[in-house]
Amino acid sequence: MGLLDSYSISFDHFIGGERVASERSFDDISPIDGSVIAQVSAGGRHEAYLAITAAEKGFEIWSRTKRSERAAIMRTIATLIEERVEVLAMVETIDNGSLLRSHLRSVMPRVAHNFRFFAQFLEEGLDYPDFETRGHKNHVSYDPSGPSLLISPWNAPLMLETWKIAPALAAGNSVVLKPSEWSPLTASILADITKDAGLPDGVFNVVQGIGEEVGPHLVGDHRIARISFTGSVPTAKAIASLAAKNLTPCSFELGGKSPFIVFGDADLDLAVKLAIDQFDNAGQVCLSGTRLLIEDDIFDQFIDRFTIAQSQLRQGDPRADLADIGPQIHPEHLDRIDRFVQRAKANGSKLIFGGERNLDLGGLYYRPTLFVEDRIDTEIFQEEIFGPVLVAKAFSGVQEAIAIANSTKFGLAGVVVTSSREVAERVSSEVVAGTIWNNCFFVRDLSAPFGGSKSSGVGREGGHWSFDFFCDVKNSVFAPTGWAS
Ligand code: NAD
Repeated sequence: MGLLDSYSISFDHFIGGERVASERSFDDISPIDGSVIAQVSAGGRHEAYLAITAAEKGFEIWSRTKRSERAAIMRTIATLIEERVEVLAMVETIDNGSLLRSHLRSVMPRVAHNFRFFAQFLEEGLDYPDFETRGHKNHVSYDPSGPSLLISPWNAPLMLETWKIAPALAAGNSVVLKPSEWSPLTASILADITKDAGLPDGVFNVVQGIGEEVGPHLVGDHRIARISFTGSVPTAKAIASLAAKNLTPCSFELGGKSPFIVFGDADLDLAVKLAIDQFDNAGQVCLSGTRLLIEDDIFDQFIDRFTIAQSQLRQGDPRADLADIGPQIHPEHLDRIDRFVQRAKANGSKLIFGGERNLDLGGLYYRPTLFVEDRIDTEIFQEEIFGPVLVAKAFSGVQEAIAIANSTKFGLAGVVVTSSREVAERVSSEVVAGTIWNNCFFVRDLSAPFGGSKSSGVGREGGHWSFDFFCDVKNSVFAPTGWAS
């Protein structure tokens, strides 16, 4: 019996409110057992054209739909997501291998919350107060901008997709979504949900396919008004150069190699607990603090305690309630992780634990891994691995911690563990990153700005920042005189 046998999911595109099949398809495999679970329609030039044409028509309707009606439909989408949480959670787990219990408890509720939050922001938070210049009134409006192309990765598919879909729809834009070919399924269920919620045809479209094949036909189309992309740096560069031909505005949320800084005065229990969280989603989290910078006076103690704590982690089938770490998404990705690890070993980095596939489980599991490094110019210290592989380095004092933290090309996030508020504030101020967590990790408010600095991204999304990106922001100036009415 196949993993998806109890579910009814379309593997075709969703264009103009209808299912559209392609002649070609690609295999979607489950990381749970490596089996092929679906043959998904593989889009190309033709499907890209159809979807953007549908999105243009959808935009005509949606951009003129009253804010209150847009918000009401978005809330219905949220309700339908809540009603289908169990199906969405299980299909996501089968498709991308992340833990079922996190999908049930936090991820899918957050998916619904994305719609509720941006519906509420549209109604209550968007308007900017009028202001005066020499008696003239300035009126700022947030106008819909057009069809938005949203391109997403595989590590948290529906959460990251709806983080973009919800503000784009709230802004009055239509959407063409291109999910990752490694995790295409929940986007297809969402398409059915939008239809059931009464979203007009063409407002939300899904084009499935291999990124390099269909992506350029979507990105390079002049009718696309906005591109919001989450994924890797090389893909962002390819998108940016093609989008430049039409000057299409892009928002990029990219990779990271974030510092996790523990000072000598930190609560070590807390530090170890937060460090364990960096293995969440089998290390496939862009925001993970993958460089453990530990002050030298507690370095050995921290490593010993962390080593014991990680040995308690249970690796296994992500559908099981007891599993803490599931498989990696895909054989190609597992091989890539292993190549990083083997090169680090060969280059003399000191392996503390892990460093190999978990062959006891077969399939796609990689053991949580920790290296200790003296140097900061090594590949293992500089490059994003996107797996359960951390590297630790000792530092001495705040200044050195900040310098090492800022020593990579990335600037996505950072975690600081210290009992000194002054130290936390200084590090937060001087480390270059989009988000810094002090004595905590992954606390996220949708009204906060989110994004990366340096190679970790371009622009910010979240709350007002999402509308600044997805809308055409206009200032209308009204003179004090000359009015008959
Ligand atoms: P990826 O860049 O390989 O693919 C992302 C998406 O782009 C996929 O849908 C893919 O099909 C598509 N794509 C590929 N080539 C394309 C092209 N030429 N034109 C248009 N689209 C194309 O990234 P991935 O492996 O899916 O995701 C992992 C990366 O995403 C990591 O670097 C991770 O850090 C990053 N990420 C960042 C965030 C964030 O919020 N900053 C969140 C999650 C993941």
